[in-house]
Amino acid sequence: MPKLKNIVPLKKWFKGISDSPLIIAGPCSAESEAQMMTTAREIAALGKVKIFRTGIWKPRTRPGSFEGVGKQGLKWLQQVKKETGLLTTVEVAKPEHVDLAVKYDVDILWIGARTTSNPFSVQELADYMKGIDKPVMVKNPINPDLQLWIGALERFNNSGIEKIAAVHRGFYPFEATNLRNIPKWEIPIELKSLCHSLPIICDPSHIAGRADLVFDISQKALDLDMDGLMIETHCNPKKALSDASQQLTPKQLNTLLENLIIRKVKSDDESFANVLETLRNRIDSIDQQMIELLAQRMNVVEEIGKYKSQNQVTILQLRRWEKIVTTRIRQGKTLGLTEDFVKKLLQLVHKESIQRQTEVMSKPVNPAKDN
Ligand code: PEP
Ligand code: MN
Repeated sequence: MPKLKNIVPLKKWFKGISDSPLIIAGPCSAESEAQMMTTAREIAALGKVKIFRTGIWKPRTRPGSFEGVGKQGLKWLQQVKKETGLLTTVEVAKPEHVDLAVKYDVDILWIGARTTSNPFSVQELADYMKGIDKPVMVKNPINPDLQLWIGALERFNNSGIEKIAAVHRGFYPFEATNLRNIPKWEIPIELKSLCHSLPIICDPSHIAGRADLVFDISQKALDLDMDGLMIETHCNPKKALSDASQQLTPKQLNTLLENLIIRKVKSDDESFANVLETLRNRIDSIDQQMIELLAQRMNVVEEIGKYKSQNQVTILQLRRWEKIVTTRIRQGKTLGLTEDFVKKLLQLVHKESIQRQTEVMSKPVNPAKDN
């Protein structure tokens, strides 16, 4: 269980940010005063965005790429705040960044995915943040490691940061995907279920990697009841010095926001509640049967294990396993289940079955005789 104390709800971080979802937008990087001011004015004019984001110090994979404008960008950000009234947020990776961001009155600090991956850096930043009353948003680490993400949140919270949120920006894609980062939605869902009061904001831009995919990811995030969206927006994405392919124009951002369907967690309609209850009862009953069947299957697996053991036969029977996979996938298809789903499920069941048989085989057949 995450040890996070006294978390302040997002809407209480600042006055006037009770919007649900909370929208954060702005360019990947601050590039010039004109780029910042034009983007900010256009974003502010939409009337839908409360927080302006930008990168001042950019963590780039290889040296030689644009590494951010540094301190001068903070002056432009201050100007954005003064002129548009938007709150501001930047990525910080070193105590020196925190120091400057505080000096230039940045409202919210965020920790980038690469920094979250390194507990030394996180601890250094958390120590430095003691006594500094700035909200912190912590992006997920590059690897799908929930504990590392929770650990970073705990380090800041231990330093007294109670205005804290998690930002889901997807994970390094070891599996083939058309997205830049794989969302692995089950990870932020698990985080939310471990800590209900923790706000979670989705960064669909870094998940998508492509402007045309940002909408679907944003909708999915809202359907999973995330508290906000952080969307990279640039006055002229084609000319952007970083992440050009995933940034939206303020106009595109407007279209995206207008088209998002904001669903409620609950409906007040009584008949809705009754229908949902009936359907949930059916799910409960099916799940119960499924668990019972799995337990029965494992009992048979153990019997097979004992039998194989007595007859000195190997646990893994490749032909049999291949036949199981093909027949079950075929059956699943006729019932509307995808190949991928059935295969993953079988792999999980098979792994457990092998484990059970290994345990059975490693037990002496008749321990009494050995003494
Ligand atoms: C960013 O927000 O521009 C950024 C660098 O993101 P991440 O840390 O998620 O890669
Ligand atoms: Mn970016």
